[in-house]
Amino acid sequence: MKCSQCGVCCKLFVINLNEKEYNSGKYKLVFDGFEFVSDFEEAELIGANLIMQKEDGETCIYLIEGKCSIHDDRPQACRDFFCDSKEEWCRGMIRKIERYKNLSDRT
Ligand code: SF4
Repeated sequence: MKCSQCGVCCKLFVINLNEKEYNSGKYKLVFDGFEFVSDFEEAELIGANLIMQKEDGETCIYLIEGKCSIHDDRPQACRDFFCDSKEEWCRGMIRKIERYKNLSDRT
């Protein structure tokens, strides 16, 4: 299945940066503005390697008008996930997306 670019995964899941992405300093993070994290290990432990969300508290800051505004430079976590993946770690996420779409269709 080709990605339909519905953007639901960008609303439902927080994105963890890997060490290289975190150290690049090019992504907006949940704790931007706070200088208390010393290294990636600590960042991962307290969730400081998560991409910032919009004011709604759930949508990725980079989702603009339903599209990823940094698509060519999106994090590895975003590249690894596909709605038709057979990977075990994707199953729960896929079910959540389906539930979200079903609920949205009913309203
Ligand atoms: S970085 Fe792009 S692909 Fe990844 S969650 Fe945010 S908007 Fe979606």
